[in-house]
Amino acid sequence: MLRRARGFFQATIRPLGSTAMRRLLPILFLLLLSCRGKEAPQPVRPLAGAAKGWNVVLLTVDTLRADRLGAYGYQARPNSPGIDAQLASGITFDNAMSQRASTWPSLASVLTGLYPSGHGVNENGYGFPDDLPTLPKLLHAAGYQTGAFLSNMCQANHQGWDAFACSGGQDGKDIRRALEWAHGLDPHRPFLLWVHLFGAHPPYYNGGDGAEAMDPGYQGPLGPRKKLLDPVMTKPIALDARDVRHLDALYDAAVQGSDRISGALLAGLRSASRLDRTVVLFAADHGEELYQHNRYLYHSCSVYQTTLHVPLGLAAPGVIAAGARVPQVVELIDVLPTLLDLLGVAKPAEQHGKSLLPYLERPDGRRRSLPAFSEYGSSTIHTVLQDHWKLVHNPDGISPVCIPDAPPNHYPIAREELYDLSRDPGERENLAAREPAKVAELAGLIQRRFAGLKNRVRQQKVPEKLQEELKSLGYVAH
Ligand SMILES: [Zn+2]
Repeated sequence: MLRRARGFFQATIRPLGSTAMRRLLPILFLLLLSCRGKEAPQPVRPLAGAAKGWNVVLLTVDTLRADRLGAYGYQARPNSPGIDAQLASGITFDNAMSQRASTWPSLASVLTGLYPSGHGVNENGYGFPDDLPTLPKLLHAAGYQTGAFLSNMCQANHQGWDAFACSGGQDGKDIRRALEWAHGLDPHRPFLLWVHLFGAHPPYYNGGDGAEAMDPGYQGPLGPRKKLLDPVMTKPIALDARDVRHLDALYDAAVQGSDRISGALLAGLRSASRLDRTVVLFAADHGEELYQHNRYLYHSCSVYQTTLHVPLGLAAPGVIAAGARVPQVVELIDVLPTLLDLLGVAKPAEQHGKSLLPYLERPDGRRRSLPAFSEYGSSTIHTVLQDHWKLVHNPDGISPVCIPDAPPNHYPIAREELYDLSRDPGERENLAAREPAKVAELAGLIQRRFAGLKNRVRQQKVPEKLQEELKSLGYVAH
């Protein structure tokens, strides 16, 4: 039909004068468009089970903001050539949301497909209920060899792994161990490899001295050292614009270091032929505030996109088309059902996430986003994002303690904060008073989403060893 329309277009305009042609052109253009519109849609290849028996590499990087990656439009520095290339080799989700800006609660949502209240790990250090199905347990039961090589959260109650090692913040060591494990695998059985890097977490070790090269001559209180950053995070020390510029450099240097380390893992797996018939999922647990709201450097207190918007990409050459982008809002809890669907492994009955297979099958399909939610420890604070509207809902007016020695209400969260991210991506202008109907609509979404969901939160004592680990790594106010 398209070819015939083009022929008509050319044959008709040739003998006409320029005025007549100008009048006819819009009509012909519309005719051409209408012919295109009648083309049969491309057949969709169903992807359920399309990667049956494939390996899975789950690569997660701590504290990695989506908007500091080239793949998400960052241009100030070449932060992420390796990660960008990995994302471009598959499908990239432009608007993926973490369920909590805190490491273990967020990662537990990835592993279970449940909101933090559903898996019960709503604070760093809390353990899973033993009977909860998780990605490693489910794939282990399906015959997979499972190995986890983590940089932090070493003392959490990890389950379902044949091999488990944790380095305490030494990402290079994790990579070496993961590659060693991958080399020794039984080639006749698929594997699940999870590598979680300390990444761009304070004190930004992975940046080395990179910030000094990016922002030379800085003499202020910040540096890629725990003893320098801890006071800024635990005492109300104000940073000025010069300090914040250096903070940006420290963070970007850590992103660049994490990019190199991620690249080394993927290159090592590729050269060992461990990326053949392999689904690679790349994500972060949360981002970093970097002083953009409430003079807060860290992440776990934040309810803003700086920490909740995370990179998410899925590659499976030959199964998932390369280079596709999905603009709709999705959630990290969608990872588990998506992977299981792709691998043809049955999903647990209790699932809060949704399979993203329809996006994988037709990334450019027009569909409305489902709302994405986050929780906030054991408090009643939630966020919801639908399309470009974001509501921070704090019905009890809770004022969190984010910096232990700071005065009260140093991190004010209004009862209702409404942002139109299409006009105000930095979440600066609270529209709640002007848009009460939108506030009510979004608050209703939160209420309905969590009503009736099983809640496994119970106050747990964080094991002493884990408390020590968190402290030594620079976790504060978790
Ligand atoms: Zn984290």
